[in-house]
Amino acid sequence: MGDGCAPFKGRCFEGLELTMKSRSFIIGSAVALVAAALAGCAPKGGKTAKVDDARLVAGSPDGADWLSYGRTMDEQRFSPLTQVNDQTVGQLGLEWFSDLDTARGQEATPIVVDGVLYTTTAWSMVKAYDAATGKKLWEYDPKVPRAKLVDVCCDAVNRGVAVYKGRVYVGTLDGRLVALNADNGKVLWDKLTIPKGSHMAITGAPRIVKGKVLIGSAGAEYIVRGYLAAYDAETGKEAWRFYTVPGDPSKPFEGKHLEAAAKTWAPDAWKNGGGGTVWDSITYDPKTNLIYFGTANAEPWNPNARGGKGGDSLYTASIVAINADTGEYVWHFQQTPEDRWDYDSTQQIIAADLPINGKPTRVIMHAPKNGFFYILDAKTGKFLSGKPFAKLITWASGLDPVTGKPNILPEARYEQTGKPFMGWPGALGAHSWQPMSYSPKTGLVYIPANEVSQPYNAAPKGWKPGKVGFQIGLETSKLAMPADPNIRAAAAAATTGSLLAWDPIAGKARWRVEHTGPSNGGTLATAGNLVFQGTAGGEFRAYTADTGKQLWSFAAQSGIIAAPMTYSVKGVQYVAIMVGWGGVYDVAPGILAAKSGSVRNISRLMVFKLGGKAKLPAPPADAKRVLDPPPFTGTAAQADAGSVPYHASCNVCHGDAAIAGGLNPDLRHSAALGNPKLWQQIVHDGLLSQNGMVAWKDQYTPEQIENIRQYVIRRANEDKALEAKGK
Ligand code: CA
Repeated sequence: MGDGCAPFKGRCFEGLELTMKSRSFIIGSAVALVAAALAGCAPKGGKTAKVDDARLVAGSPDGADWLSYGRTMDEQRFSPLTQVNDQTVGQLGLEWFSDLDTARGQEATPIVVDGVLYTTTAWSMVKAYDAATGKKLWEYDPKVPRAKLVDVCCDAVNRGVAVYKGRVYVGTLDGRLVALNADNGKVLWDKLTIPKGSHMAITGAPRIVKGKVLIGSAGAEYIVRGYLAAYDAETGKEAWRFYTVPGDPSKPFEGKHLEAAAKTWAPDAWKNGGGGTVWDSITYDPKTNLIYFGTANAEPWNPNARGGKGGDSLYTASIVAINADTGEYVWHFQQTPEDRWDYDSTQQIIAADLPINGKPTRVIMHAPKNGFFYILDAKTGKFLSGKPFAKLITWASGLDPVTGKPNILPEARYEQTGKPFMGWPGALGAHSWQPMSYSPKTGLVYIPANEVSQPYNAAPKGWKPGKVGFQIGLETSKLAMPADPNIRAAAAAATTGSLLAWDPIAGKARWRVEHTGPSNGGTLATAGNLVFQGTAGGEFRAYTADTGKQLWSFAAQSGIIAAPMTYSVKGVQYVAIMVGWGGVYDVAPGILAAKSGSVRNISRLMVFKLGGKAKLPAPPADAKRVLDPPPFTGTAAQADAGSVPYHASCNVCHGDAAIAGGLNPDLRHSAALGNPKLWQQIVHDGLLSQNGMVAWKDQYTPEQIENIRQYVIRRANEDKALEAKGK
């Protein structure tokens, strides 16, 4: 340990825990390290990744580095690099690639600093490479317990690291924030950021603001109370915590903003968490000195389960602005009041200068799940415009032109009508976490847009949350996809995705490229008049930014959901992307997967440059899986009964109507289907908990679990009959 650590000289902690594998020891050491830090002795960062505040704010004006999640602090994901451009992109070839040691969804945007590329993979693992050659420099595995998978809707994903003053920061699925030495990946500190035993999880990338690391968490379907927190970048000490929803009223409010928010909830609503988690977007704008973040849905989704009274449920489904120095509330704008559709507002927030009514204005732009594109005044949060970017919106007839408040349609309040409601968009969102980009050159925002519906139906009155898995207060078993080829074909036809070039000033699309299915990758815009995007069907593509003409594509062998990024080393421009299908909440069963085209997961980091000549190994042949279930020997009543818990809990991972999305096991093919004892051992007792399939004995009885088996057997036989007819 070096300067400023006199009290601990010779026996300081840097490197102490580094040889130790045990997580408990690491956490124990972290406590010691934080204690040491409080005494003025924080473990020092490395000699690489020397990124300070000035460098972060400048944002690499020449485009060589990609210093934070959205490249620049305004998160525009626009690169000034032009070597790869609309004239040269045809020569773009694979330069190097790295096979990843996990076959789950890859969502990270790599960071590049001074020729070193840092990225994360599924299970929150971190890897560092020589950005020009692909030589792996180090890797770090936080050893996330695999049973944590039950606490996330959409795979064991991670969206990337932050770097600052020789340190690399990662948020782990099990809720830790870990600081690594950027030179070698050794742990400097490791801090639990969520309540012990909480169902919260971290999938988002940390951001650095003025010496603090900011991170929130996911979990608004699992009875949690959302917050964003800031930690001292050097020591890991918590600097502030901003709760987004009110807590236990017998305790003091943690801020005036919560006193105001409490009036928009029923008194008992806090008992079911409240939600409003901060699981993705965090944008710092040095021009306003504000931090903007988006909040997730109100929970449980069904408002009847939020204390029996509807209300706006602040500050869920909102953008909140807080003071970057103090973490105190400044303004909020709620995009979806009284959310009951899982319309998270967590999508990436872009700050930009736009001419509004002819006047240069600092704004933030946002395309949340609810299907409207918003422009707000960055300083005040004033609503400037909101136009539908989704093709079909069934929950609101439009927004008030002055306040931006939605006009919610009565039929969308399904818990009040008592009737099912078909939501467009559904919970997948008209736009999800896949980052959009903004080109100041074209003035267009490039949105990975989805058209996916979802049926909503309130659970019977008296619904209470259970202990394991999703707790949203819906009952959708009767709305599952039927084994009717015509209905399936119609649903598949309506379920689409596109690359949408949106003119924010005009409030309309300039061009759109239709994709085969939804859930395609994030976008990158460059000064070379290009937009890059990967598709769920497994192609990495480049289009002209002004007109959307496809100029280039590369067969990536696996569906792409992550966003591309670009950087340069010694005058050579590279384009990098994480490849690996996953990350999908399987509400739109095999339809989504089947439409996408390529849903196998071959996880790789791929890096391209002009004239790159690397070749991928040939992909394994896709084996056609023929359904061969045991005969259905249960009763219709059993299978019907099994459909209810299936669609309350199992569908989140294994797909609506028991048709999986290509990543998690498709239970219609399960070897345990014909073995009731083994089925109980897996589902009731947790035999496969090390694979993420935890025990459900706290949620369901053996009889209910047997009913689920009968439901899946019946479903498998229905689909086998369809296959026999060639449908
Ligand atoms: Ca949500």
